[in-house]
Amino acid sequence: MSVDYYQVLGVAPDASAEEIKKAYRKLARELHPDVNPDPQTQERFKEVTIAYEILSDPEKRRVFDMGGNPMDEFADAFGFGDFMGAFFGGGSRGPRPRVARGRDALIRIEIDLKDAIFGADKSITVDSAVACATCQGLGTKNGTQPVTCTSCKGRGETQTVQRSFLGQVMMTRECATCRGFGSVITDPCSECASEGRVRTRQSLDFKIPPGVESGSRIQLVGRGEVGLGGGPAADLYVEIHVAEHPTFHRQGFNLHCDIQLPMTAAALGTTLTLETLRGEVELTIPAGTQSADTLKRKGEGVPHLRGNGVGDLYVHISVVTPTKLDAEQADLLKKLAELRHEESPEAVVSETSNGFFDRLRDVFGGR
Ligand SMILES: [Zn+2]
Ligand SMILES: [Zn+2]
Repeated sequence: MSVDYYQVLGVAPDASAEEIKKAYRKLARELHPDVNPDPQTQERFKEVTIAYEILSDPEKRRVFDMGGNPMDEFADAFGFGDFMGAFFGGGSRGPRPRVARGRDALIRIEIDLKDAIFGADKSITVDSAVACATCQGLGTKNGTQPVTCTSCKGRGETQTVQRSFLGQVMMTRECATCRGFGSVITDPCSECASEGRVRTRQSLDFKIPPGVESGSRIQLVGRGEVGLGGGPAADLYVEIHVAEHPTFHRQGFNLHCDIQLPMTAAALGTTLTLETLRGEVELTIPAGTQSADTLKRKGEGVPHLRGNGVGDLYVHISVVTPTKLDAEQADLLKKLAELRHEESPEAVVSETSNGFFDRLRDVFGGR
């Protein structure tokens, strides 16, 4: 319970009034809620301010030096929030405007890979607010005007004088009668209950540009909610999530897919038709294609969202060894092995690149 106020300010117990003031100013600049609004800093700021209030007042400091707690009296004088308000938030701000800009909003949508690559026209339904057509945003009935608040005489705030050990302190608070507006709507619009805007569900059309990815945000300027008092409309942000595609995977601007190729076709070469996101393409498989070989199709990947250019499509090949051979097929393969002198192959340790370890290194970014 016994706080060392000297320690809080980081000054010696015999510090001069000038040193105390200097230490406090320095800390207050660092810890002021306007600079550093996080709760922990504000706690510290309170502590520092209390310490200063006590040590800067010769009478309070004397009580504290003698082991008393001048805070007891201080805490009784008024709540701390009021004290802080009196001390730091004392500036007059004037009445709050009735018209304000709406608040920006973020919605998330999921699209498929095809729409992400080629772009798309989308239509979504959003809950929003539009200006009240009945009162044109004024919030009043039949064109009546808000009347000046009698409690605060239009200032939007009320002031009271409180006595404390600091002397008389002027307290400024938002006027409770007019909620700070300085005027009161005595005859509110029945449609919007004086808000000047009404909630509504509306459909929104927009374009997804080609090349977006998960996390991309599209800003729809002025298509968010209308503000209080029919104020300017906010922006709406649409955040894109691209769903996984069953066969095509995106990596940066490139697309990847895997195809399986019978051993015979890999050895002899062939042409096959591949259904890509752009439609059917003819794939030429050269004779002697190996498992893990890759065919690159230039310009068939993802377009750059900004600027020109488009990525490539990589077709990764796995060669499938037949697992069920009938007698005739087995005979043919044995014959082939004989012709190629491969009946009893030796273990050949791979030294060429593109071996298993080279590929591992590629994957993990080594050289
Ligand atoms: Zn008022
Ligand atoms: Zn209205």
